[in-house]
Amino acid sequence: MAEAAQSVEQIDAEVSVCRACPRLVEWRERVAVEKRKSFASEPYWGRPSTGFGSARPRVMVIGLAPAAHGANRTGRVFTGDRSGDFLFAALHRAGLANQELCVDAADGLALNGVRIIPAVRCAPPANAPTPAERATCAPWLDAEWRLAGAGVRVIIALGGFAWRAVLDMVRVAGGSHARPMPKFGHGATATLQTPHGEVTLMGVYHPSQQNTFTGKLTPSMLDDVFGRVAELAGIQ
Ligand code: SF4
Repeated sequence: MAEAAQSVEQIDAEVSVCRACPRLVEWRERVAVEKRKSFASEPYWGRPSTGFGSARPRVMVIGLAPAAHGANRTGRVFTGDRSGDFLFAALHRAGLANQELCVDAADGLALNGVRIIPAVRCAPPANAPTPAERATCAPWLDAEWRLAGAGVRVIIALGGFAWRAVLDMVRVAGGSHARPMPKFGHGATATLQTPHGEVTLMGVYHPSQQNTFTGKLTPSMLDDVFGRVAELAGIQ
């Protein structure tokens, strides 16, 4: 289905009913029924997350996977958890989002030239998809790159898992990168030759609480990155 998709809207419609990974389907649906106590009165999405943001992006941000009580609850990537609060606040400071507020899919948030896509679209137990699950979900990312990647000049990989997913995506699309394989690090960059032209891949620590609460990733570190990204991508 992913390979046959002809538009981003078609990907969104089709991926939202995907059940290709039994372990993740069981987990996302169980979490949606059991819920966290503080969200007990809310309906949970309990399905895969679509990409979110500009349909013709200059920048793609690739994440890991939806959080069980974040995107798996609200239905929008990085929405409803601390990671998203941290990320969208930084995008707003850089002029890449219209507002800092990010609470649910109806909060009015819009991105400026940016599209955010999870490498794996279903919430995994312990935030840890397996390599096999990444491979199973990869055709959706490949399709999104094929249909929405034409204007992209910068790809941000939030963590090493996303970094590897991007390198695989570029190879599947017929593109290439330097050998040996570029290594992930915060601030690491790699030049990718793709069918859509030359693209800069940039590594950024994932804005998980494990990184933000410990000071491994700070707001000023993200401001540095997104400032450079906006300049590289030519976004005002
Ligand atoms: S992780 Fe991806 S491939 Fe697996 S069920 Fe979810 S949407 Fe489908």
